Amino acid sequence: MFFMVYAYSAKEGEIEDRGTAMQEIRDLLKKVETVGDWWGVREYSEKGQFRMARNGQNSANSTSVTRGVMVEVMNDGVLGYAATSNLTKAGIEMAFKRASAQARSIAKFSLTQFDESIRPANKGTYSSPVERTLSDLSPAEIQDFLIKTSSVLKKGSSVIEASAWAMLSETEINYISSNGSDWKQNFSILTKDSSVTGKKDDLIQSRSSGMQGLQWGAEALSSETQASTNEKLLTQLDELLCAPECPSETMDLLLTPDQLYLQVHESIGHPLELDRILGDERNYAGWSFVSPEDFGSLKYGPSILNVTYDPTLASEMASFAFDDNGVKATKEHLIKDGVLVRGIGGIESQKRSGIAGVSCARATSWNRPAIDRMGNINIEPGESSVTEMISSTERGVLMETNRSWSIDDYRNKFQFGCEYGRLIENGELKGVVRNPNYRGATVNFWNNLSHVGNKDSFEVWGSPYCGKGEPNQIIRVGHAIPTCKFKNIEVFGGA
Ligand SMILES: [Zn+2]
Repeated sequence: MFFMVYAYSAKEGEIEDRGTAMQEIRDLLKKVETVGDWWGVREYSEKGQFRMARNGQNSANSTSVTRGVMVEVMNDGVLGYAATSNLTKAGIEMAFKRASAQARSIAKFSLTQFDESIRPANKGTYSSPVERTLSDLSPAEIQDFLIKTSSVLKKGSSVIEASAWAMLSETEINYISSNGSDWKQNFSILTKDSSVTGKKDDLIQSRSSGMQGLQWGAEALSSETQASTNEKLLTQLDELLCAPECPSETMDLLLTPDQLYLQVHESIGHPLELDRILGDERNYAGWSFVSPEDFGSLKYGPSILNVTYDPTLASEMASFAFDDNGVKATKEHLIKDGVLVRGIGGIESQKRSGIAGVSCARATSWNRPAIDRMGNINIEPGESSVTEMISSTERGVLMETNRSWSIDDYRNKFQFGCEYGRLIENGELKGVVRNPNYRGATVNFWNNLSHVGNKDSFEVWGSPYCGKGEPNQIIRVGHAIPTCKFKNIEVFGGA
């Protein structure tokens, strides 16, 4: 479940002192023979923990530490890369030589001539907003929290399995370049989930709190919040075990943020990635139905649809001051009043495609170059209350919490399954239904959007598991979304 590539592992409880890390690199660089027309050095260090409990018992515990640098060298407008965890004079010098030689050897295949403007000089710092640092939590405290949570959940009368897990990351990125960049960013990220599976006769159902990742600190593991979550999960599991199958018919659909964020991720985020549109990802993660000519004209949805790339929202998973190419991070509209206006492409893809993009070049660790990644892709709050969305619905269903998904390589046709549904009839919320699913095609689906929730239903969600790139890069993304309503959607029941 833990995807990072680790240079070495620390023993349980050991935390490396990374406070002076960049000074070490600075001192080394003074001694190293730097080469190239331009160079940049990105140091990345991270301590990660994954802990899990099942049925009141310890289930998984791991702690890992990684640290290294990525050296980029530009020769005659072509970039070469070399990464190393050998942080000695010899190690860094070797990385410079390799990156420089690579830039020269690939020059004859290069598609675009770059210059220093793709690595703008910036200075500054960023730190996650936390109340208490993650290092305040001992491994035993985290494990006790998870054991207690899964133990309480296991006591439910129909429960056959209960689990709770938490993934903690403390990351530091330092960047310096030959043209004057000098910045540092510290991230404190915790992702957690808890779930129950129950059985009644031959029927099995599951209910979870939905995987939730944010930039926060030790305050994320709040016993009070978890107690109310546990109560909700057990109540709703029993409701699902007595509920009829979701009906199969075309009707109105209300999606809460814990499902809608994945809909946005798969059917707005991925298709707008400029490297996909340029064909870079075609043989691996897929292409896109969006073509370069669509920017500025494609009606992605009605005028109430406003989608932003927002690296500035406090606590959201992919908020930061600079992307990994050193570009200052700013909030931009991707879809404005329903029209596609901008792609999810960093400065290199913008130069290659001529399409406006955002500050989204990101690398998953020190041993990967930055590529076009989602960051935070949000739906801006609208005008409608959830009550208004329900009262204006003659027949529909409200779905919560993603359970399954599938979408084609072009990010067009999809189907999603949710954990929990409630029927809506004649403007009123009715009974619970199990196995609610829906399907559609991207542009048609978003054009059926009839209501965008206001700030009362706006929630910040995030996942650490967005995958892309060869070699693979699993990265953290955020989605802040209100509840929304869609008209005439194909809804169906079944597993
Ligand atoms: Zn993804």
